[in-house]
Amino acid sequence: VLVVRHRMQNSGKWAKAMDIVKEFEEKCATPVSKLRQVADAMTVEMHAGLASDGGSKLKMLISYVDNLPTGDETGVFYALDLGGTNFRVLRVKLGEVDNVKKEFEEVSIPPNLMIGKCEDLFDFIAGELAKFVATEGENMQIPAGTQRELGFTFSFPVKQSSIAGGTLVRWTKGFNIEDAVGQDIVEELTKAMERVGLDMRVSALVNDTVGTLAGGRYSDPDVIAAVILGTGTNAAYVERANAIPKWQGLLPKSGEMVINMEWGNFRSSHLPLTEYDENLDSDSLNPGEQIYEKMISGMYLGEVVRLVLLKMAVEAEFFGDTVPSKLEKPFVLRTPDMSAMHHDATQDLRVVATKLKDILEISNTSLKMRKVIVELCEIVATRGARLSAAGILGILKKIGRDTVKEGEETQKSVIAMDGGLFEHYTKFKNAMQNTMNELLGEEVSKNIIIKLSNDGSGLGAALLAASHSQYREYTES
Ligand code: BGC
Ligand code: MG
Repeated sequence: VLVVRHRMQNSGKWAKAMDIVKEFEEKCATPVSKLRQVADAMTVEMHAGLASDGGSKLKMLISYVDNLPTGDETGVFYALDLGGTNFRVLRVKLGEVDNVKKEFEEVSIPPNLMIGKCEDLFDFIAGELAKFVATEGENMQIPAGTQRELGFTFSFPVKQSSIAGGTLVRWTKGFNIEDAVGQDIVEELTKAMERVGLDMRVSALVNDTVGTLAGGRYSDPDVIAAVILGTGTNAAYVERANAIPKWQGLLPKSGEMVINMEWGNFRSSHLPLTEYDENLDSDSLNPGEQIYEKMISGMYLGEVVRLVLLKMAVEAEFFGDTVPSKLEKPFVLRTPDMSAMHHDATQDLRVVATKLKDILEISNTSLKMRKVIVELCEIVATRGARLSAAGILGILKKIGRDTVKEGEETQKSVIAMDGGLFEHYTKFKNAMQNTMNELLGEEVSKNIIIKLSNDGSGLGAALLAASHSQYREYTES
């Protein structure tokens, strides 16, 4: 009798756990009809954000980039890329035989600096930059008597005042340095460079999406937008300057302006939000903000999976009669680990078993349990991938590239893509690409190309520094 009762209890718990998974799956559903609503809402918000400051959750920030690289840029430029967990310093020689020569170094940011004081972060960055400058070889020198120039990729929302200045609107991702909000980022960096004795001028301040767009355009004239799917997510695209009612300045000669959408902050009643997303949001560093980002990007996907597993552990004793204490720790399950489990191709899901053991100290899982965990990864990654495809459709609609117009010559639209999530999470990438095809249909999707532009933003920032250099020889054609 005891054994039978025990089995019945267990099967009751299993059923409860499966109910949780099933309900989660239903709430995460992204049928094409829903994705179209999301895309339409994105287009509507784009219009609203362009109409006036504060007109929408989408900031639609003006980048002051009204000319994209042509390929004629020359000279040696530096770039600095700050935005995720690492930051990168680059030295780029433009206009060489094979067009670019790049040298770079990547440094991880000490976590305490991400939530500390503004000065400390910038001192650290300037210090690393100075070390890198000191390694400048003979083949990468700038002309005597000229000042080194830098393109600064700063991957947070910035309200630009010019191509080389702007104030931080707010932090996103894991950053939270209060005394930097509202400050001019270029001034902060310049002061820090002075403190470490580095003589360098910031010639361009760009978001990573804008840098990626510029870097992509350098080698492909059909690039019209850039999307980042990494720690965070965002998009930038080329807009007609006269379609930006809030733009008060002169119309640029090119008639165009790159817009940094800050789409991570998109929000709509059409988004398939669950209780887990709401909990993730309310416990985050930025509650109420970056809702779309929290459903899509690399910083959060693993965390959503963790929250569902935690509920299964608490309410259905999925991992036995005690809740594994590691599972209670926010952000222990990182998206790269989730991806490894999701891609586990072994018969007995050995990778899943190892990850559970190493990260959550959970052993003795059955194959059946491990399959459920893979399924959770699939649900969360697929939702994120499909939602990001809907966002891209929103952009294509805004600029009229979502259909093939009769009689018109077919025009290729290339979207430069960067970010570790897209680059390394194969199932995410594939789901996104498939969803694009599903949304656009065969004929249109032939002309919409998503192109991985690995570290395009560093090159892009250097190129924009070149075209906005203080030395006329670089800029005048
Ligand atoms: C930031 C954007 C950035 C994106 C990708 C978001 O959290 O708000 O400015 O482009 O992450 O790095
Ligand atoms: Mg980046």
